[in-house]
Amino acid sequence: MEKILVTGAGGQLGSELTAALAATYGNDNVIATDINEAAKSKFDYCVFEVLDVLDNARLEALVEKYQVSQVYHLAAILSAVGEKNPLFTWKLNMDSLLNVLELAKAGKIQQIYWPSSIAVFGKSTPRDNTPQDCVMDPTTVYGISKLAGERWCAYYFEKYGVDVRSLRYPGLIGYKSAAGGGTTDYAVDIFRAAIEGETFECFLKEDMYLPMMYMPDAIKATLDIMKAPKEDISIRSSYNVSAMSFSPSEIYAELLKYYPDFKINYNPDFRQEIAASWPDSIDDTHARLDWNWKQEYNLEKMAKDILDHLAK
Ligand code: NAD
Repeated sequence: MEKILVTGAGGQLGSELTAALAATYGNDNVIATDINEAAKSKFDYCVFEVLDVLDNARLEALVEKYQVSQVYHLAAILSAVGEKNPLFTWKLNMDSLLNVLELAKAGKIQQIYWPSSIAVFGKSTPRDNTPQDCVMDPTTVYGISKLAGERWCAYYFEKYGVDVRSLRYPGLIGYKSAAGGGTTDYAVDIFRAAIEGETFECFLKEDMYLPMMYMPDAIKATLDIMKAPKEDISIRSSYNVSAMSFSPSEIYAELLKYYPDFKINYNPDFRQEIAASWPDSIDDTHARLDWNWKQEYNLEKMAKDILDHLAK
């Protein structure tokens, strides 16, 4: 049976992915970790340990203590927050990944999941139906760290046979946790504003298309790629994955169907410039062919599901 350690488990993705891993592999086989001690309250169903991913000795000690076989390395500083402290973002995002890759190289763990992002793309990248392989010139330190991370993953696979798997997530939308400081966060926050009857201040332009994915699809994609037979994984940097693309005006129109008095103001800030350097849609043919990726949710279905849950 796998023993799974999750880093950054208290975050927007980790809170839901850790629960899905526990449901799949058993509560006793999942160790949630985060630098934030308060995250413990989310994990009454499994072991929780405080872990700063830059503390390599503690990471190694936890891997040994719990006989960990897989690490889902989620801890990172995201795109918008990263711009406020570029050098530390580089250090955290890179050093921590290398620590985890080194553990696998030494045979102490057998498999790694590490998320990349559409932030690896940049202004010279084809914006429509962005291919797996194309010009990649990220403009944020976050994107630079994810692109470098992708190359390190491919390197550790090629040179040392490390079984590391990765997805280039689009903007992730969930309703269970607050968003963590990314450029697509508006699409998470807009639901609460609609429900609470507040005017929503949108930090992107109304026609700013971005690729997005509902959290249950992101969880499914993550579990699927990790369960796929090794020989089916033809891409060892990171896979394009896609589910839907929409602009702020389109998600607003969708919410108006439920809340006809809902109001929105567009006040683009520095995040608009980041968003403008990212693709508006993604070609994920390889994920579909290699391990049968298929999304379940479009904008309409996602909005209904989120509002049904939040209303409860
Ligand atoms: P988040 O900011 O919500 O969560 C990150 C978690 O990492 C937090 O709980 C934080 O306390 C923890 N953390 C920060 N520094 C740490 C450290 N030094 N040691 C240990 N833990 C630390 O982020 P998220 O949205 O859950 O993203 C998780 C991963 O998915 C990241 O690698 C991110 O780049 C990737 N990703 C997310 C999105 C998205 O839209 N949310 C999109 C693409 C990729």
